[in-house]
Amino acid sequence: MAQTSDAGHADLTGDNLLREQVAACTLLLNDLKIMAYSGHVSARLPGRDAYLIQPFDQPRSGLRPEHLLICDYDGKVISGPSNVRAPAEVYLHGEILRSRPDVNAIAHFHHDITNVFTLVEDTPLLPLKNHAVRWASGIPVHADPSHVANSELGRAVAKTLGPHHAMQIRAHGQIITAESVPALLVDSVHFVENGEAMYHAAAIGRVKALTDADMAAFQRDFKRVPHVSKLWRYYVEGGVKSGLLPKDWVLE
Ligand SMILES: [Zn+2]
Repeated sequence: MAQTSDAGHADLTGDNLLREQVAACTLLLNDLKIMAYSGHVSARLPGRDAYLIQPFDQPRSGLRPEHLLICDYDGKVISGPSNVRAPAEVYLHGEILRSRPDVNAIAHFHHDITNVFTLVEDTPLLPLKNHAVRWASGIPVHADPSHVANSELGRAVAKTLGPHHAMQIRAHGQIITAESVPALLVDSVHFVENGEAMYHAAAIGRVKALTDADMAAFQRDFKRVPHVSKLWRYYVEGGVKSGLLPKDWVLE
């Protein structure tokens, strides 16, 4: 287990790559205006019933690897800087990671345009853009807009998510799940791109969702691993050039 530490990289155990990826993903999502003053990224620690997540009140714009806490599936902080508590909604991360062994990284954010589709009748968020095939199985909407502030609420959210890769919480926000932190960033970007595209499309006419045939055609030639790698490098390189990300972080 990683030891409690208030210091930087030097005292961390073998989780440096994951810590730097979580911090970079958070900084990039914040810079892209997908995440803001609230929201969080988590990443499962390999081989452990535990995950990295940022502290409750750490500004997303200044997150560093050493700020990250290690929590268990019950939302309890098991390692991290002293006197720091987990986010109020830590339970959604723990309960989804507990129930979905295929998920290794989760983002929760509160993107307003994307969430608009939970505020109206008869206009659900649909896959419109090609990369939205990721959500071909569906984008469930959790009816309870509450903060996911205890284990029971976390289990209810995990039940609504079911086997899907993204969901919305009505009048609240989004949850994206992926197999890795780089994939999580890419999926979050595509999810919001799709939401914004549908918002604009619906303003000028009747929207046309991707059909099953459209999605099958796109999937035939689409390779997720190189796509994730290409976009992760694109955003990381941009972040390093702008000074958002330190040059010495190891991110892949
Ligand atoms: Zn929330």
